[in-house]
Amino acid sequence: MKKPKKLVVGNWKMNPKCLEEAKKIASDVKRGMKNIKKTQVVLCPPFIYIPAISNTASTSIFVGAQDAFYEPLGAHTGEVSFSQLPQFKVSHCLVGHSERRARGESDEIINKKVTAVVSDGMTVVLCVGEKTRDAHGDYLSFVRGQIMADLRDVSKKSLDHLVIAYEPVWAIGASESMAGRDIHEMAIYIKKVLREIYGLPADGVKILYGGSVNVENISDIMKNGVDGVLVGRDSLDGKRFGEIIKAVEESK
Ligand code: PEP
Repeated sequence: MKKPKKLVVGNWKMNPKCLEEAKKIASDVKRGMKNIKKTQVVLCPPFIYIPAISNTASTSIFVGAQDAFYEPLGAHTGEVSFSQLPQFKVSHCLVGHSERRARGESDEIINKKVTAVVSDGMTVVLCVGEKTRDAHGDYLSFVRGQIMADLRDVSKKSLDHLVIAYEPVWAIGASESMAGRDIHEMAIYIKKVLREIYGLPADGVKILYGGSVNVENISDIMKNGVDGVLVGRDSLDGKRFGEIIKAVEESK
C-alpha cells in the first residue's frame, strides 16, 4: 500500500501586513516545493488574501481558512461562511484554534463548525490541546473531552476529511516546543480516543503537532509518531517554512 503523505499546515494568523508580502510568501513556498513528493502543504492566510493566494493551489499545496461561521448565509454581519470558501479553492479549514477558544468559542460551537466544514466537502483541521500540564495526567482527559465534544455526531465517513492538530496551548508562541516523548504519548492517546468514538482504528486521520515548531526542532518532532505539523510564526518566512517542509519530507 502507498504510504500516506505527510502534512504541513501554515497558520499565518493576522499576518502579513500587505497583499504583496502574502503573495511573496506563497510564491516562495511554491518554489520550495519543486522536489517535494511525499508531503502536502496547507497555507492558511487571512480571508482577504485568499483570492490572490488561491492560484498557488495544486496537488501538493492547498489553501486553508483559519476559521469561518457555520451558518451558510444570512444576517450575520462581519462573518464569512464555510460554504462561501470552496469557490476560492479553499479545501481545508482550521477549527478550534486556541486563539479562537480564548475568545469564547465553546466545544458546542466548534462541533457545529466541524460539521459545516465536512458537509461543505472540505477537510477540517481540528485543533485541541490543554492550557496547562499537571502531574496527574488530567491533561489527557481534558483533550479527550475536547475531541469527544468537538466530534459529536460527526460520522465515520467524515473521517476521510478530518485532521487533528494537537497544540498544547502553553507551547504555542513559546521559546521551545514540547518534549518529543510527550508528543509521542499524545499522538498515541488521540488515536486511542478516535478508536473509542468510532469503534475502529481511524488510521486515515492524520495527527499533527503544533507549538513552536521551527527549523531547528522539526526533525526531532517528526520522530514522535505524528503525521506532520501545524506551524505559526515560521510559516511566515517562505525560506524557513520551506526548510521545515523539506525536513518533514525527509522524515521516516
Ligand atoms: C499556532 O498558533 O498554531 C502555532 C503553532 O504557533 P507557533 O508555531 O508560533 O507556536
